[in-house]
Amino acid sequence: MDRPLMNRVLVPLALNGAAPVLGAQVHGLDGQTMGTTWQVRWSTNHAAVSAERVKAGVQEELDRVVEQMSAWLPGSDLDRFNRASAGTQHTVPEAMAEVLQAACWLADVSGGAFNPAAGALVNLWGFGPSPRYTDPGFAPPTDEAVRHALARVDWRALRWDAANSQAHQPGGVLLDFSAIAKGYAVDRVSQRLSAMGLPHTLVDVGGELRGHGLRPGGQPWWVDLESPPVAQGQRPLPTTRVALHGLSVATSGDYRRVFVRDGARWPHTIDSRTGRPLANGLASVSVLHAECLWADAWSTALTVLGREEGVALASAHGIAALFVQRERDGQLTETLTPAMQELAE
Ligand code: ADP
Ligand code: MG
Repeated sequence: MDRPLMNRVLVPLALNGAAPVLGAQVHGLDGQTMGTTWQVRWSTNHAAVSAERVKAGVQEELDRVVEQMSAWLPGSDLDRFNRASAGTQHTVPEAMAEVLQAACWLADVSGGAFNPAAGALVNLWGFGPSPRYTDPGFAPPTDEAVRHALARVDWRALRWDAANSQAHQPGGVLLDFSAIAKGYAVDRVSQRLSAMGLPHTLVDVGGELRGHGLRPGGQPWWVDLESPPVAQGQRPLPTTRVALHGLSVATSGDYRRVFVRDGARWPHTIDSRTGRPLANGLASVSVLHAECLWADAWSTALTVLGREEGVALASAHGIAALFVQRERDGQLTETLTPAMQELAE
C-alpha cells in the first residue's frame, strides 16, 4: 500500500511588513481582465479605505497594463508597435518599458527560451487573437509557415534601448507579453494597495499571486500550488502549501489551454527556437519570487527549457522553482531547485 502523502509547506526565510491588526476582517473584490479573472483580498479593521476606492485603484492599474500591453486590444501601445511599418522607431511608455526591459533580459539569459517577440509563432499555432485553435476547422501550420514565422521572432532585432525607452520595429515582429504581463499587473495592484494604506493583501490575476502581511489572527495568506490533474494509475503528488508573505507565485502548465488532436498535445507555450509548441514532458513549473513579474516570466522560461536545463539555469540564478515532469512510465515526478528546498526546510 502507498504510504500516506506528506504535504509540503513553504515559508519565506524572513518576516517583514506591518504587525497584524487587532479585530481585522478580510474584504474582497474580483472582476475580469486580460481574458481571465482577478481577485484582491485585504485585511483591515477600519473602513478608512472604502471598497469603492480600492476597486477604482485596482481598475486603474489593470487598465494601464491592458491599454499598453494587450495584444487583444486594437490600439494598445503593443498593438500599434506590432502594426507599425518596417524600419520605424518607437518610444515605449513607462510600464511597457519596464516589462520589455525584464523580458529582453530574460530572453538573453535563457537563450530565447523566454521570448517577448514570439507573437508570429503564437498566432500561427492558434494561441493569439486569431485564428484560434478552438475555431472549427483550425489546422496546425505547415513547416513552411513555421519557417516564415521563425524569421520574425528575433527579440534582438528590437534593438531595445532602455536608456531612451526606444524599440525598433524591423517589420513583422509581433510582441506578445502574455507570459509576463499578468505578473506585472499583480505587482502594480499590490503596490497600489500598499500605497493606499493596505499592507495586508493578497492579489491574484489569472492564478499568478502575490501576498503581503498577515490575515486576521496573525496567519499569513496560505495558498496551494496549482498542480496537474492526476490521471488514472498515476500516484498523486504532495500538496505544496505556500505562505505568501512578501512573496509571489506563478505556475505555467501544459494542462490548460492545450490543443489536442490525434492524441498529440500542443500546449500554448511555444519554443521559439524550434517554432513549435513544447513537447518536453514538463507538466508544470511553479516559481516563487518576491516580484510576480519575475515569477511569471521565469515559470514560462523554465517550462520551455525543460527540466534539465531549467533546473540548471534556475539554480544558477537562485530561483525557487518546482518542476513536475511526466515520466515515460506515465508517473509524475517533482524536482525542487536549491532555493525552493530552502523554503521547504
Ligand atoms: P499562462 O498564460 O497560462 O499563465 P504563460 O505565463 O506560460 O501561461 O504564458 C503563455 C503565453 O505566453 C502564451 O499564450 C503566448 O501568448 C505567450 N508565449 C508562448 N510561448 C512563449 C515564449 N516562449 N516566451 C514568451 N511568451 C510566450
Ligand atoms: Mg508566465
